[in-house]
Amino acid sequence: MAKNQYDVVVIGTGPGGEGAAMQAVKHGLKVAVVERFAKIGGGCTHWGTIPSKALRFAIFQMLEINSSRVFREAGISADVSFPDLRKTAESVIRQQEDMRRGFYERNNVPIYSGHARFVDPHTLEVGEAKGAQERVTADNLVIAVGSRPYRPPDIDFSHPRIFDSDTILNLGFTPWSITVYGAGVVGCEYASMFRNLGCKLNLVNTRNQLLEFLDDEICDALSYHLREKGALIRHGEQYEKIEGTDDGVILSLKSNKQLKTDILLWANGRTGNTDNLGLETIGIQPDSRGQLKVDDRYATSVPHIYAVGDVIGYPSLASAAYVQGRAAALHIAGDDCARLLANDIPTGIYTSPEISSVGKTERELTAAGVPYEVGHAQFKSLARAQITGQTVGMLKILFHRESRAVLGVHCFGANASEIIHIGQAILAQPPPNNTLMYFINTTFNYPTMAEAYRVAALNGYNRLF
Ligand SMILES: Cc1cc2nc3c(=O)[nH]c(=O)nc-3n(C[C@H](O)[C@H](O)[C@H](O)COP(=O)(O)OP(=O)(O)OC[C@H]3O[C@@H](n4cnc5c(N)ncnc54)[C@H](O)[C@@H]3O)c2cc1C
Repeated sequence: MAKNQYDVVVIGTGPGGEGAAMQAVKHGLKVAVVERFAKIGGGCTHWGTIPSKALRFAIFQMLEINSSRVFREAGISADVSFPDLRKTAESVIRQQEDMRRGFYERNNVPIYSGHARFVDPHTLEVGEAKGAQERVTADNLVIAVGSRPYRPPDIDFSHPRIFDSDTILNLGFTPWSITVYGAGVVGCEYASMFRNLGCKLNLVNTRNQLLEFLDDEICDALSYHLREKGALIRHGEQYEKIEGTDDGVILSLKSNKQLKTDILLWANGRTGNTDNLGLETIGIQPDSRGQLKVDDRYATSVPHIYAVGDVIGYPSLASAAYVQGRAAALHIAGDDCARLLANDIPTGIYTSPEISSVGKTERELTAAGVPYEVGHAQFKSLARAQITGQTVGMLKILFHRESRAVLGVHCFGANASEIIHIGQAILAQPPPNNTLMYFINTTFNYPTMAEAYRVAALNGYNRLF
């Protein structure tokens, strides 16, 4: 095979690209990746998942010190600025980047540096617009270019007090107050972080419920706990004007309300990074949000060109992007990708309280007329939660009244995103191994949070008649 000729070329080294490249190389294919950012790992590592989760952890640590009676009585408190808290992410990012670069090096996957553009359906031109260009060709290509915050033209993002989820990481001071516009996953996560930092918070939701794709009880719990901590939440609002001033940002809403805070975080929507990709030359048309349509094998309308990760839209999670990348590579290699369960993806949302869920919601089961029952466990009744003081939370299991098959698991509270995987493992089993009885007949370590499964299962079982 010629030097710049490959079986598979992947554009982007985020989780989607990495999943595709590593799976393809494990199948003996000749693989290369193209990356325009100076570092490996994608938005996930450098301006999305990793920095935001590291920042969240640092804020939690500070909160824990400041709310602990033991520390207070010892005269210990912490007052760390936003930029210093943010810096704690740097070593994690470095470790992640080194590790991920190592994957490509160890597997002899060359990394072409520069922006990739299609010049024909099998050829990419790689390089800077005015710099040297290199051509790579491949039998199959995977587009894993990710997404970026959507920026409406009438908002001045160059104003030093107006931020989006990428630029907020460069905030140089701890604000006294913040308005978060947009209450999707990113908006709710940052709202929780700033509230935990002690900032006065307005969360402006363009919809009528927070995170309405979740089970209603979980949406309600998030609203309740954010409000209980002092957040002001406005539902069903649209901005009229966003105006940066010397000492703050004024948000004027179409409903004639006005809010003024030190800074504003715009967290309303994302756009796929499909511009300047040369898609028009190969007949692929992104939608109005720059996203690509794919079939169940992640192939675009051009069968040898695949797309995975944020560029195909929902669920726009790193976890999903990685599995989608692997599924696309398996398909290229002629393997069966159905077993990857790429469609059965749990949600992990790092708000306060943390949220996680897998499977059907009560709303979906009710609409489908499924005879289901529900079992609850409140964290406050678990010994482990009482010991750690993390008593806010609940686990609920939805199961079929007759077969007792687990249909959905929904959780909020400390470590919800870890706890959910126990339920996911049972939910994914073929019948008859997918029932509530597993939780009733299994010995759980004591005291653990996992014990919530036994408590919830018994609670649900006792409702049957
Ligand atoms: C604030 C925030 C918090 C998040 N938290 C979580 C979380 O907790 N859990 C979770 O699962 N998900 C989370 N996400 C979502 C997650 O980051 C994304 O779903 C994930 O990064 C998508 O992976 P990807 O591979 O599609 O794209 P990315 O990770 O964005 O990678 C795309 C890569 O493609 C490169 N690229 C783009 N265009 C080109 C081109 N033309 N040529 C060459 N290279 C190109 C980019 O430089 C980038 O490196 C979060 C996102 C944000 C913004």
